[in-house]
Amino acid sequence: MGKIKMTTPLVEMDGDEMTRILWSMIKEELLLPFIDLKTEYYDLGLQNRDKTDDKVTVEASEATKKYGVAVKCATITPNASRVSEYNLKQMWKSPNGTIRALLDGTVFRAPILVKGIEPYVRTWKKPITLARHAYGDVYKASEMQIPGPGKVELVYTAEDGNKSSVLVHEFQGAGIVQGMHNLDASIESFARSCFQFALDTKQDVWFAAKDTISKQYDHHFKDIFEEIYQKEYQEAFEKAKITYFYTLIDDAVARVVKSEGGFIWACKNYDGDVMSDLVATAFGSLAMMTSVLVSPHGYYEYEAAHGTVQRHYYKHLKGEKTSTNSMATIFAWSGALRKRGELDGLSELVRFADLLEKASVQTIESGRMTKDLALITTLSEVTVLDSEDFIKAVRSELEKMLA
Ligand code: NAP
Ligand code: MG
Repeated sequence: MGKIKMTTPLVEMDGDEMTRILWSMIKEELLLPFIDLKTEYYDLGLQNRDKTDDKVTVEASEATKKYGVAVKCATITPNASRVSEYNLKQMWKSPNGTIRALLDGTVFRAPILVKGIEPYVRTWKKPITLARHAYGDVYKASEMQIPGPGKVELVYTAEDGNKSSVLVHEFQGAGIVQGMHNLDASIESFARSCFQFALDTKQDVWFAAKDTISKQYDHHFKDIFEEIYQKEYQEAFEKAKITYFYTLIDDAVARVVKSEGGFIWACKNYDGDVMSDLVATAFGSLAMMTSVLVSPHGYYEYEAAHGTVQRHYYKHLKGEKTSTNSMATIFAWSGALRKRGELDGLSELVRFADLLEKASVQTIESGRMTKDLALITTLSEVTVLDSEDFIKAVRSELEKMLA
């Protein structure tokens, strides 16, 4: 059988530690034997980010704008201990933050469902995709301690010097205060990314906030979503037989738990932070969460939701075997290859992506899995595999399917 051809390169962003090891194993075992893989390679490993003064991250983002689809390995976000561990010139910013800012995107996270790893919520049958707005609110808030009695106001000074103000509180004693903001442009991008991704994946969109209490702030989010939906997406949604609806965040929580899954849950920044961890854990495992950054301009960047699995990497460096789960990283590749295939009209590539996912899922469902899953599975006959043997087991399933 000849290798599957590609016409446009994928933007490939390599990363750090254990996931970097998995990255090359996945390419070696699951991609290169079957595809004439075309990528434009960017090394986002921490050493190269430091060497290039983090220019490589910006270049990789620019390439994503040029080609439209990227696949990214997990990367270290440096903190003080990483600065000394890698002898860094400075504490470089989070690559994901840099990429997200340049692509103006929203991150969608969805679990990979397999039989034998059961969600804690019995009714969930399909994945729930969580979309978190990643700008502003409490993450860019200004806060102040109020030492004693006095008045706090919010003051807006327009460019022409005109002022308007609103009373926050007349303090009788000590307290605290917080001022936060968001931007119409950012909320609009968020809404468009959600609606675009819903059309791409044929799923409903639920957006939830607290507009009954926050009559200006949250209500503004609701209005922007509604307006963009009606003006730009309603027709396409009706054609695709999917729906958009807004509800209160507390109502959403109740509906989500009672649902079957299979929709996109759009959340404001803080709600998304909390709910994405809740949904990930309730589905079973962080190692089974996929993540895709979708920009309203139609760029896609696929990755795993977990980090570089540092603890396993240190074991690997000591020569010990690790049992690190590569599912989410495999699905980052399959997601990117499928999207590339769809954009370029390459049905073979789309089919390969589908089979790669199917082979990975079947491997686990046949009882062969990494340790993290073996600890939580409901299957009774289980073989625990190390990192490399799991990928090899997927390869043999894949070869059977392709034969
Ligand atoms: P992590 O890499 O997600 O791993 C935390 C723990 O979760 C691991 O020690 C392991 O538990 C378990 N785990 C996560 N992924 C797994 C997998 N694929 N297979 C098996 N077990 C898995 O988080 P971290 O150790 O806190 O962070 C390490 C580095 O990743 C940090 O430098 C951080 O900056 C970076 N990070 C990057 C991204 C990204 O690029 N998107 C996201 C988050 C974090 P056990 O040790 O109990 O086996
Ligand atoms: Mg969180």
